[in-house]
Amino acid sequence: MKEKKVIIVKSRMIPRGYCMNIFGTIWTRDKSWIDRDVINHERIHTAQQRELLFIPFYILYVAEWLIRLLKHHSWQKAYRNISFEREAYTHGHNLDYLKNRKPYSFLKYL
Ligand SMILES: [Zn+2]
Repeated sequence: MKEKKVIIVKSRMIPRGYCMNIFGTIWTRDKSWIDRDVINHERIHTAQQRELLFIPFYILYVAEWLIRLLKHHSWQKAYRNISFEREAYTHGHNLDYLKNRKPYSFLKYL
């Protein structure tokens, strides 16, 4: 299977050192740190978004972040514990992960 190119958009709205996946495109302030692992991490988010038909993904993402924020009292810790992020951080370094990933795998990280 040939890998599709990922579109990276430069934006000053994104805080330094972060990127955001908006409907499968990667938005970042500075492209220099975007390596293969980061792109793979974002591809995992794109797969999650497709499964949830995009808009519900963002709603669930923010809802889970808020619930985890109540538990952890740290926005960074809450972010890292969102099920979508746990799946993407666990497998971001495995460039073959998406070839064998089962649909809705983020549910394992709830
Ligand atoms: Zn992520």
